[in-house]
Amino acid sequence: MKPLEQGLSRDSSVVVFDDVDKRYGDGTAALRGVGLSLSPAEFCFITGPSGAGKSTLLRMIYAAERATAGVVHVAGHDLARLKPRSIPFLRRNIGVVFQDFKLLPSRTAAANVAIGLEVQGISPRRIRSRVRQVLAQVGLAGRGHLKPGSLSGGEQQRVAVARAIINEPAIVLADEPTGNLDADLGYEIMELLERVNRRGATLVVATHDMDLVHRFPEARHVQLEGGRIVADSADDEDEETAG
Ligand code: ADP
Repeated sequence: MKPLEQGLSRDSSVVVFDDVDKRYGDGTAALRGVGLSLSPAEFCFITGPSGAGKSTLLRMIYAAERATAGVVHVAGHDLARLKPRSIPFLRRNIGVVFQDFKLLPSRTAAANVAIGLEVQGISPRRIRSRVRQVLAQVGLAGRGHLKPGSLSGGEQQRVAVARAIINEPAIVLADEPTGNLDADLGYEIMELLERVNRRGATLVVATHDMDLVHRFPEARHVQLEGGRIVADSADDEDEETAG
């Protein structure tokens, strides 16, 4: 059983930030009074200038950082109460894609994708079959034997997406996933992530690339500035409904 599939948070949100502050050890206030609630299968962009707090917000969702004040619930768990030994279980339900791919250069694409299954003690035969399936899903059928150094940037990011979705996570987080790619390749990666979202994963993409955001007008758009949420398209829709 995947522990985090047991239940969603109050109000059935997958992610809830309730009046969250994050202050780093050196005193930097990275998030201030953040309130945010993400539904199952929602697609949400987090935008804002460099230093706005986008990465911090994502890192808090996968429990790499703890709130200084306020409450963060992910898949029904209050992260402040989560025991350190439960963090790997939380992370099995969260796929993460980074700007710089973060692939292991000495392992083949297939071996990079397999990592999330190996730690679960799944049989090598099942791993091979699942990895083949996911590589095909991201358009890399037949490329699994290559090491990252032999793949283009766009292909490396596809491997990273495959690695992120190998466990069919409920939540996929992408931190500037297109930042190292030219516009067309970046758009292809976003289309791939959108497809993952359409299959049911909550997708959160941090980016400073407004052109990219405009190409996905259906997505929710939360804007951060100086650690505060300064705009949220979901609020605009509420107002339209109310009016
Ligand atoms: P963004 O992703 O929008 O560029 P970040 O979340 O990386 O923003 O950073 C928000 C603020 O927190 C910035 O002022 C940044 O310098 C600071 N910050 C980020 N990580 C750390 C850290 N580990 N220690 C101290 N300050 C940090």
